[in-house]
Amino acid sequence: MKYSFFFLFLLSSATTFSQKKKAVFIIVDGIPADLVEKLPTPGLDSIAGGKGYKRALVGGGKGTYNETPTISAVGYNSVLTGTWVNKHNVWGNYDEDIAHPNYHYKTIFRLLKDADPAKKIAIFSSWLDNRTKLVGESLPATGNIKFDFTYDGYELDTITYSNDTTSLRMHAIDEFVVNRAAATIKEKAPDLSWVYLEFTDDMGHMYGDGEKFYDAIKVMDNQVSRIWNAVRFRQTKFRENWLVIITTDHGRDSATGMNHGGQSEREKRGWIVTNAKNLNAHFTEDTISIVDIMPSIASFLNISFDDELKKEVDGTTLIGRVSATGLRAEAEGGVARLTWKGKEKGKGKVWIAGTNNFKTGGKDEYKLLGEVDLKNEHAEFKIGESNSGFYKVVLETPSNTLNCWIVAGKN
Ligand SMILES: [Zn+2]
Repeated sequence: MKYSFFFLFLLSSATTFSQKKKAVFIIVDGIPADLVEKLPTPGLDSIAGGKGYKRALVGGGKGTYNETPTISAVGYNSVLTGTWVNKHNVWGNYDEDIAHPNYHYKTIFRLLKDADPAKKIAIFSSWLDNRTKLVGESLPATGNIKFDFTYDGYELDTITYSNDTTSLRMHAIDEFVVNRAAATIKEKAPDLSWVYLEFTDDMGHMYGDGEKFYDAIKVMDNQVSRIWNAVRFRQTKFRENWLVIITTDHGRDSATGMNHGGQSEREKRGWIVTNAKNLNAHFTEDTISIVDIMPSIASFLNISFDDELKKEVDGTTLIGRVSATGLRAEAEGGVARLTWKGKEKGKGKVWIAGTNNFKTGGKDEYKLLGEVDLKNEHAEFKIGESNSGFYKVVLETPSNTLNCWIVAGKN
C-alpha cells in the first residue's frame, strides 16, 4: 500500500509539473454586460463553467487621473498593458490618437518574449494596427518584437472582402479570423494568442439595441465556442493547460446602444469570461476591470514583472494568490490617507515617489513611508507638500504590488 501511494504521488506530481501552459485572450468589440447576461450565450457559458463570469469595469475611474475613453483601441491597449490611458497613451483609434503608445508599459506579448524568446505568439484580427501599433511589431522601442503567427489586416483587403452597406464584409472577415485561430491553436498551439472580433461593434453602431445587434452577439458566441473547441482538443489530446479569457473593450450608451466613448454607467459596463480554475478573492469579492487581464495572464504563464514595472501595472491578478487590492490615496495638508482591501493577514510596505521618470524610461526614487497591517485597510502618513502636487504611491505586499497616483485636484 505504502509503495503504491508513493507511486501515485510521483505520477501526479510529474503530470502537474510537465504540463505546458498556454493562453488565449479574445476581445469581442463593444458588447455591454447586460446584453451578455440577457441573451443566450451557450459558448461563453461553457467556458465560464458556472464560476468564471463577472462584470468588469472599462474606462478607468470616472473623474479621476486615470479616466480612460471608452473607445476601442484605448480598451485593447488597457488589456494588453494592464494600465489605463494616463500610462499607455493610446487615446483613440486613428491618426495621432494611436500614433504614440508608451512602450515603457510593456504588453503581455513583450513580457512573455522577454522572459523566454522561444515562446510562440499569435495574433488573429481584422485590424492591422493591433499588431503594428499597439503591440508595436518590429519597432526598436519594443525590442523589435515579432509575432510567430499572424493573420490580420483583412480590413485593408477590398478585393477578397469587398465593401457593402450591411457590414456582412466584417462578418466574413471575423469568420476567417476565427477559422485561422481555431486551426492554428489546434495544430500549432501558440503559447499566447490574441483573437479580435469586430462585427458586434459594427452592428451596434448601425442598428443599436435590437434584434440585428443581438444576432451578432449570438454569432460571436458561436465563433468563440469554435476557438474553445480547439482549446479543448489540445487539452485532451496533448494534456496542455490552457487559460482562456474573453472580454469586451467598452459598453454602449443606454439611450440607443449605438454610441460609446463616454463615462456613463453602461458605456463602462464591460465583462470577463474565463475558464481559469483558481480564481481568487479579487475576482469573487471586488469590482474587477479589464486591466486585471494582463497580470492574470502573466500569473498563469509564470511571468514575473521587474521591480519597476511591478509598481506601474494598474491591474491585479484574478488568478492565484493576492494579499491586498484596491489601493486608493489622497493628500491634504501634507498628510496622505490610504485605503485598500486586505485579502490576507500580513504586513505591507508603503512607498512614495514625487516623480514619474518611468514614463520616459527612467527610474523613480521611492521613499519608504512605513509598514502597515494589511487587515487594517487604511493608514495615514505625513508626506509634506510636493512641489509638483504629484505623487505615486505603492503598497508592496507579500504576493502583489498595488499603485495609485495623487494628483492635485483629482482623486
Ligand atoms: Zn470597440
